[in-house]
Amino acid sequence: MDGKVIHNQRSAGIENLDDLPQFPYGRFQNKSYDFGFVISSRGCPYDCFFCSNKINSQRKFRYRSAEKVVEDLTLLFTKFNRKYVYFLDDNLLVNHKRIKDLTEEIKKSGVFGKMHFNFQARGDNCNEEIMLMLFEAGFRGVYFGIETASEKLMQIVNKGETVQEVIDAVGLAKRLGFFVSGNFIFGLPGEKPQDRKDAFKLAKKLKLDIVKYNNATPYPGTELYHIALKENRLYIQGLYENLNSVSSFIEKPFQKTPFSYVPEGNTEKQIKMDIYLGSLKFYFNVRRFTRVFTNPDKNVAWFDFGHSFSDFIKKLPSTFVLLFILSIKFSGFLIQYPFYTAYYKIKDLRK
Ligand code: SF4
Repeated sequence: MDGKVIHNQRSAGIENLDDLPQFPYGRFQNKSYDFGFVISSRGCPYDCFFCSNKINSQRKFRYRSAEKVVEDLTLLFTKFNRKYVYFLDDNLLVNHKRIKDLTEEIKKSGVFGKMHFNFQARGDNCNEEIMLMLFEAGFRGVYFGIETASEKLMQIVNKGETVQEVIDAVGLAKRLGFFVSGNFIFGLPGEKPQDRKDAFKLAKKLKLDIVKYNNATPYPGTELYHIALKENRLYIQGLYENLNSVSSFIEKPFQKTPFSYVPEGNTEKQIKMDIYLGSLKFYFNVRRFTRVFTNPDKNVAWFDFGHSFSDFIKKLPSTFVLLFILSIKFSGFLIQYPFYTAYYKIKDLRK
């Protein structure tokens, strides 16, 4: 107001999510809207030091009743012909009792057997009983925030679970037939280049279906933000334009977006190169690469060609632009990589 920034009081937060009206899907009739998402809970009781959840929800976990969630799924199926829905809850499996209610409600409903679902979870929240319940109700894809292959870094980021617990959960999910995606964060405080190499090995060992390597991003209010500030390593561009964990991929080829945080003992170049290297290692494989374009139903595809031939034709120009940008990025990487490795080898020998 009058050129001043006014900071409102925090809202108390909605205790009972069932008090909220149903999302007005009917107001968004344009076919280009993607309705393949629901949110059945808000908040997460864990305290991972990079996660913005603490700021948004103050770790207060609340959830909608199973009946309300299934009402949404039924509407999405009957009115909007959605057969695949991604549960965008930050952490679906916080409360196993409510998952039991939800899966039972889905099994009683008319969408059972006709719809499939994907969700995000922590490894330590998974056990055979709950994963089987989910699979039987139609859940088919799970996305794990693996974050790191290093037990030491896992403790530093206050994840509250071990790498081994994530490994066990991924093994269980794969054994039951889930499509498993995993996310790693590169550039955490205390991280060494070898930790990133270990992440590549772990992604391969776990036989993940999709993997993403993101750069650590210090969102204001998180512990990571305070660490970056204290270490004098916080770099904010403009109006927080570079607070982006996937900037390596979405930055314009000739207009770089600097990372907002680079931990001591690393350079931005090293981390970015490792993000490209890890992605190239993983997706330099016809089966894995095609998944990126052919599994929009699992909500993991980077690109959705739509549902019909005319959608496909309409999306061809943007596909070419995307492929062009990716080829510039990766050819730049392939040209620079030998020089980059030689430089660091010489540097290590001189130590
Ligand atoms: S478990 Fe996931 S959602 Fe919860 S605090 Fe950690 S990163 Fe955030």
